[in-house]
Amino acid sequence: MTREYRRELDVALNAVRIAARLCRSVQSAITTESLAKKDNSPVTVADFGSQAVICRQLRAEFPGDPVIGEEGAAELRADGGSAFLEQVVREVGKVGVVGDPGEICDWIDHGGAQDFSPRFWTLDPIDGTKGFLRREQYAVSLALIINGQIELGVLGCPNMSYPGREEPGVLAWAVRGYGAWQQPLGDVSAAALPVRVSATSQVSDLVFCESVESGHSSHDWSGLIAGELGIQKVPVRMDSQCKYLAVARGDADLYLRLPTRKGYAEKIWDHAGGVILVEEAGGQVTDIAGRVCDFRQGSTLLKNEGMAVTNGRVHPFVIQAIQKHRPQE
Ligand code: AMP
Ligand code: MG
Repeated sequence: MTREYRRELDVALNAVRIAARLCRSVQSAITTESLAKKDNSPVTVADFGSQAVICRQLRAEFPGDPVIGEEGAAELRADGGSAFLEQVVREVGKVGVVGDPGEICDWIDHGGAQDFSPRFWTLDPIDGTKGFLRREQYAVSLALIINGQIELGVLGCPNMSYPGREEPGVLAWAVRGYGAWQQPLGDVSAAALPVRVSATSQVSDLVFCESVESGHSSHDWSGLIAGELGIQKVPVRMDSQCKYLAVARGDADLYLRLPTRKGYAEKIWDHAGGVILVEEAGGQVTDIAGRVCDFRQGSTLLKNEGMAVTNGRVHPFVIQAIQKHRPQE
């Protein structure tokens, strides 16, 4: 049997590895002083750099594929953007990618598609920017969507622990129908390990994870749901799509994203890579009303509300509890 999307997977894995190296290098240079000053420039530079190296690779290998990415180069091209652009050029060079400032802006803008098409990629060059700045969890997330179905997803999670290794860093991926896998981020020669969700079926035993930011997911609402399900353990709060990896490999059983305001549409790049990882690991992903996520709506999940990610077994109970405690409008 020929493996589907073999070339797409190889390109995506390689691109995410390089981008994650760039992010790591920038993150390691964040000083306590820049943290104290609330200086966001490291994340800005790494965000652009990550999108540049990934989009360069996608454009070279699959020139016809649009990329719906989070960033655009307008800010770098504008007056006053040149200092940032120089830093991006430098960081991109450090990971062995050579490009002049104009080329780098063009690579970034290759990720500027907005609209749905029958075959496209979606990219979050750094998901969890707040986690990146705190030197905690963040992820590079890339997914391929064909006819509205996610067919392939890759997550680079530089600060997640890897089973049996001291050095952190996980590269995780899934191809529809071929399961979910992980490998140490810095070791391409290591054998990939299968990723499976937990077998927890007792709802009161669930380990539950959510966003660190209460502005991204309501902590009050999740507290009521945990109470309803009889969950005693404190929630694991983590930035980025690393939460999807946590559920996919059974570190957690449940990840909820509970809207903090009416009308917020989730961005596809905040989810696509993680969704297929959990599904291929045996879990279930729907919105908070139990609906399938509709990736045909352009850059957002316009037809959905929030997100409910579980090991599958407990999904109906979780959806029920979410609905029972829905805040009054
Ligand atoms: P997390 O790391 O899980 O807190 O999620 C980070 C992502 O939250 C960012 O990439 C943003 O795109 C997204 N975000 C920004 N504002 C909101 C909001 N009001 N509700 C949900 N997600 C948001
Ligand atoms: Mg994001």
